[in-house]
This record gives sequence, C-alpha cells and structure tokens, in this order.
Amino acid sequence: MVVVDKNESTSRKIGCYTDRYNRPIDNLRISITNRCNLNCIYCHREGVNKNSSNEMTVQEITRIVNVSTYFGIKYIKITGGEPLIRKDIFEIIKKIREIPQIENISLVTNGTLLEKMALDLKKAGLDRINISLDTLDPCKFSNITQMSEENHKKILSGVIKAIEVGLTPLKINMVMLKDINVEEFETMYEFTRDHNCILQCIELVPLENGKDQFDKHIDLKEFEKNIKKRANKIIIRRLQKRRKYFLRDGGIIEFVSPFHNSEFCANCTKIRLTSDGKLKPCLLRDDNLIDIITPIRMGASDIKIKELFKEAINLREPFYKEK
Ligand code: SAM
Repeated sequence: MVVVDKNESTSRKIGCYTDRYNRPIDNLRISITNRCNLNCIYCHREGVNKNSSNEMTVQEITRIVNVSTYFGIKYIKITGGEPLIRKDIFEIIKKIREIPQIENISLVTNGTLLEKMALDLKKAGLDRINISLDTLDPCKFSNITQMSEENHKKILSGVIKAIEVGLTPLKINMVMLKDINVEEFETMYEFTRDHNCILQCIELVPLENGKDQFDKHIDLKEFEKNIKKRANKIIIRRLQKRRKYFLRDGGIIEFVSPFHNSEFCANCTKIRLTSDGKLKPCLLRDDNLIDIITPIRMGASDIKIKELFKEAINLREPFYKEK
C-alpha cells in the first residue's frame, strides 16, 4: 500500500508563502555551532566550508525562529557541528518550544554526549532525535570518525537512553559509503528494527568544497528497489518526496537520496540557518547566503528581518532541475 503523508506539511494552501518554484517553506534547519567532537571523513559540515566562532545566542535564535513562523515554518531541526556541545542547548529548545506555531522540534546528533543529556532534552521540549551512526563495528567507527572506539560505546548507550525517555520516533542516520559500510546495511536494519527505531539511509553528498571530492558515493536505487519488495506499506513524505518503507518483519527504512535527484529538489520545503547567522537557501550552494545576524545585532526591526527572510526564500532554487 502506498500512502501520501497528509499529516506532514499542509502549508501549500492558497495565500501561503511559497518560493519562485511554488514550494512552501515549513522546515528550518538550524546549525547552532560548527564545533564538533568527531571528525567524520565525509562530513559536508551542513554546506558551510569555513569555521566561525560567531555563534548565535539563545535570544537571537529564538527571534529568528519567531519571524520564520510568519512564512510558514513549523518544523525545526537543530544541528551542528555537534549541537550537544553547546551548554545552553536546553535553553535553546525551551525557548523554541514556547513558540506556538512550532509543531515539532527535532535534533540531529552524533550521540556521544547523549546518554546524560537525553532526559533533560526531553524535559526542555525536544520531540524527537536523529542519531548518526554509520556502523556497528567500533573499529570502522573509529576510522570513519577519526576518533577513539570509546565513543562508539557511548553512542549506543545514548540510543538506548533516548528511546527510554521517549525522544521518538528515533532515527538512526546511516550515510552509505562504498567499500566502507554498505555491507552492513542488513545488520544496521536489524539493529534499528530490534530497537524500534527507523533506519534513515542517506546517500553520500560528495561536496566538491567539502573533504576534497570524497569518492565513496554509492547510488541507493538498488537498495531501495529491494527494500520495496519487502514492504507492505510505503509512505511518501511531503518533504523531498522521501519514501518510508514499512517492512513485513516490523522494521522501518527511510531513504534520503538528494544526489542528481530533481524530484527531491522540487519537493524541498527546507531552509537553513548557519551557526553564524546566515540564511542558507540550499545545502549545495554557498554563493547565495543572506546575512541576518548582522542587521539583528545592529537593532533591525522584525519588519527588516522579515524582508531578509523573504529575500532568502526568493533566492531558493532547485539545485537539480528536471531536464
Ligand atoms: N554532529 C551531528 C551529527 O553527527 O549528526 C550533526 C551534524 S551532521 C553534519 C548532520 C548529518 O549530516 C549527519 O547525519 C551526517 O551523517 C550527515 N552528513 C554529513 N556529511 C554528509 C555527506 N557528505 N553526505 C550525506 N550526509 C552527510
């Protein structure tokens, strides 16, 4: 059975704010720091190539989220760097939670600091979490993240704790890397199924300006085709037309395949905010950022901030277009 997800994003209504390609904007992905305690060999750093210590404050983040709701933002994803590094992460979540238009707050983390923080994150108002975990093999983990195997144990404890406190549905983000972890796909699936999580299978985005044309890309089409045969229900998400497969043996797999995918781009309803306060219309471009934090720090009114948001939305353009 194939179902189009109607719960997600109802914002394509007459009169709602859309970009030049008629795409509503309902997702804001906020990087709150670009500091990280791992060093993954493939990391795209959320499409930002240079370090900046100019992080936004809790008040600045809250103000930007508040203004964003005017354009239809209702889903917030907090990312990094590693977002749990920030000491004021609970405050950030609490303040965003107070904004009534925000329906869902989620966070993506490498999970190394999660075990001790999970309960307080939940109490602060976080709805759910994605944990990045590409392998169940500690040695491979260490090679991918360029950090010690000890961290792997911590992440697994973080997964268990996050489930226990109800940061669910919990997704495990697995970036598929040729010759590195693809043969672990089935083991990873079983792990997520047995822990009642969703396996989010992510296609590697080989950013040219990231880690020097990292060449471990593998097309996920074949995987998806095989998984489809094992599914008894498929949900097509509004966001990027991602498919979520419900397998007959009880597990769930979602595929994220952005590379050379015009359907993905045509259905992208996401805008980004970099850790140093710039609106970023697309992960794959860094030549059209709108600096929103400088005007805020110079005392800009909400009207001015809205104008900047509008400008960023109007710059949005599918990276891959149908030919
Ligand atoms: N530190 C956090 C973490 O590890 O989840 C948040 C930041 S990380 C950049 C966010 C997500 O992007 C992770 O799930 C990571 O696996 C994914 N990611 C990073 N580089 C990628 C790439 N080149 N292609 C696809 N996904 C990537």
